[in-house]
Amino acid sequence: MMENLKFGEPILITQPTLPDFSKYCSTISEIWENHWLTNAGPLNKRFEDKVKKYLDVDNIASFVNGHLALEIAIKALGLTGEIITTPFTFISTTASIINCGLKPVFCDINPNDYTIDCEKIESLITDKTSAILAVHVYGNPCDVEKIDKIAKKYNLKVIYDAAHAFGVKINNIAIGNFGDVSMFSLHATKVFNSIEGGLLSFKDKNIKKKLESIRNFGITSQESIDYIGTNAKMNEFQAAMGLCNLENIDENISKRKKIVNTYIEGLKSVKGLYTINMNNANIKRNYSYFPILINSKEFGMSRDLLFDKLKEYNVMTRKYFYPLCNKISAFKSESETPIAKSISDNILVLPLYADLSINDVLQIIDIIKYFNKK
Ligand SMILES: *Cc1c(COP(=O)(O)O)cnc(C)c1O
Repeated sequence: MMENLKFGEPILITQPTLPDFSKYCSTISEIWENHWLTNAGPLNKRFEDKVKKYLDVDNIASFVNGHLALEIAIKALGLTGEIITTPFTFISTTASIINCGLKPVFCDINPNDYTIDCEKIESLITDKTSAILAVHVYGNPCDVEKIDKIAKKYNLKVIYDAAHAFGVKINNIAIGNFGDVSMFSLHATKVFNSIEGGLLSFKDKNIKKKLESIRNFGITSQESIDYIGTNAKMNEFQAAMGLCNLENIDENISKRKKIVNTYIEGLKSVKGLYTINMNNANIKRNYSYFPILINSKEFGMSRDLLFDKLKEYNVMTRKYFYPLCNKISAFKSESETPIAKSISDNILVLPLYADLSINDVLQIIDIIKYFNKK
């Protein structure tokens, strides 16, 4: 152990962004004035308006969390049978399909940015396929044009799990404008949070009422319940947090960008350590995660050992995403996705949050370089 490299306190993988305390207090003071806690209150309406502008989309609906938003999207689009999706994602994506009574069909990913491999989608389409559910993983946009082409050709719906992609743009088009529906997670650990929370942006404004009804037990008016719904409403405290955090989001993303660039620069000479190419000028990024891929032979140590070693030095990393969603014990799938498997076995996400100091980032780099030499 190189004692001078060890952190005195653990560096966590992430830390939620909090607004100025007095600002949050003054925002929630409205709740005490109008006695409105949940069910589309005034703060919730204001938040939906503002976040819709920020995300630059035509239609938006807010939810208590991203996961239920995803399930409600599947229900509102009336999907049936099979949905083609990626195994390289957070379990929520897969669970949303299964919880809606549908079958996830796993498509392998491409090795460059870990999004769904569009060349492999068509061979998985059957007469039961109703949609593609793709993930902008780590905020890297999927090949939205190819997915759109395939969807049109086979008359499929497209849902994007954009949980990681808040604020991302492709050729200056905001990410929520692609596909039929996109889901954004506003969980505490994401780039932008409303404590917990979720958003759907969607193309067809006619599904707005249906989405809003399903999130409130399927109630459509005082005396009619037109759908079998659930309870997924965003409350006023969440909306207040969203409103406050929205004011700092651009500053937050630029701090993250500086951290990511420091990691890239510091780690580029490390043998057997690979990062995603982020030089594509057409993409406006949000720097939500910083994954590294370890080639254990070249690096001199496996991903799993590096994870353990970094922990000894008080650097908390995450095997994200491991296990793969088609390899979890709760759900048996026969599908083989070799590229996703190899990425999942060798990926490690490093600490990243707006207030992580550049000095700490440099020290993390030094620790990784120290292991690389040994
Ligand atoms: C966080 C996340 C979700 C779930 O969102 P919650 O707001 O936590 O319910 C879904 N998919 C992905 C890829 C995520 O990272």
